[in-house]
Amino acid sequence: MSPTVSAPAPFRAVDLIRKKRDGSALTPAEIEYLVDSYTKGTIPDYQIAAWLMTVVVRGMTREETAALTHSMLHSGEVLDLSFLPAKTVDKHSTGGVGDKTSLILAPLVAAGGLFVPMISGRGLGHTGGTLDKLEAIPGFNVSLSIPEFHRVLKTGGAAMIGQTSEIAPADRKLYALRDVTGTVESPHLICASIMSKKLAEGTDAMVLDVKTGSGAFMKKEEDAVFLAELMVETGERIGKKMVALITNMDQPLGRMVGNATEVYESIEVLKGGGPDDLRELCLELASWMFYLGRAAKTTADGKNLATQLISSGKAFAKFRQLVELHSGDVSTIDNPALLPAAQRRVDVTSSRGGYVTSIQCEHIGTACVVLGGGREKKEDSVDPAVGIIVHKKVGDKVAIGEPLCTILCHSDEQASRARKLIEESYELNAAPPAYKKSLVHRVIHKREH
Ligand code: URA
Repeated sequence: MSPTVSAPAPFRAVDLIRKKRDGSALTPAEIEYLVDSYTKGTIPDYQIAAWLMTVVVRGMTREETAALTHSMLHSGEVLDLSFLPAKTVDKHSTGGVGDKTSLILAPLVAAGGLFVPMISGRGLGHTGGTLDKLEAIPGFNVSLSIPEFHRVLKTGGAAMIGQTSEIAPADRKLYALRDVTGTVESPHLICASIMSKKLAEGTDAMVLDVKTGSGAFMKKEEDAVFLAELMVETGERIGKKMVALITNMDQPLGRMVGNATEVYESIEVLKGGGPDDLRELCLELASWMFYLGRAAKTTADGKNLATQLISSGKAFAKFRQLVELHSGDVSTIDNPALLPAAQRRVDVTSSRGGYVTSIQCEHIGTACVVLGGGREKKEDSVDPAVGIIVHKKVGDKVAIGEPLCTILCHSDEQASRARKLIEESYELNAAPPAYKKSLVHRVIHKREH
């Protein structure tokens, strides 16, 4: 038997590192070689770490970013949803505090006849995660196999799961390496990481909610806009319909922060109530989802459709069906008082009177994490029952002794760190803020849809 002779590698990693270091763009074939070889384990960590650092320092062209996203996307399974009888559309948020829009949008948009395949994440840093919130519903299973995901999607119009080992394995390996080599902070790498996972869902269209402000990862608006434009262009190059909304995260969205509490507030919105900012943002995002998915001719029509689906009870009925299809306990949806709830309630009262002029929103997210509602370390489990109710938001008048927030916890000791963070996060002044920031700062879409 003749020995197997493997083909020589088309490139040497060191040459590609040097090329990028010296300011030249890599070709799609060169990027594909790096991603593919690293995923297979034939290029070591230290060479990929060096290349990642050249990207952080040098940046990437739009072509390189699209090529990197494409290679990472195709490092694993890309779902084929062509068996579905209507368009598919998803929404992705870059993460915030009290951001429960996915829980509302999946049933709302599915009730309007589109299919919503959602591959979501867990809480990251001070921000909450859709999977943790869904798991606050007793029995809700976010670990469906791909065939089960297809079945739930086809039957219910939406399905929500976590990233499986088959989806974008290159991202899992690269992200772990970026985490320990100071190479997370690159908009090009962030774009490729997010988009490779989201595009693996196989959706026709994607609405991005890119948050900016004190509770967002992108604190500065220009950074959020840069990332949003990059993601829109990258998705479009890969053949998807894309839009990005730059939205305000200078204070928690809605009034509830936590897991079961956020399910509670999502049910309120799906039933036609809930806080104005949360309802308004959901209607805006849904309007774009309906428009890109061709269920509405204009975004104004999309907004009307979303409003009708809520007022007719169809959106809530769809949520109930989705909970059932994911093996969740629907009695907790019919009677949200049955959702997990911490028994101890500790008010954080104001020591002065005035108007709330700003909230350090990241602190509110961190306060929820220290209560156990998020993760301080990756391996931590999340307590579904704890959380924070935000009574006072920017512009509100506050009297001495009035509660700013209420902490939902198991003991007073547990509340003390969270209380301090909340107290420090509120800025009060004698006069209200000169102007109120809009909820949607900008809409970014390149192509005529
Ligand atoms: N979230 C991701 O999925 N990837 C990044 O690189 C950053 C945030």
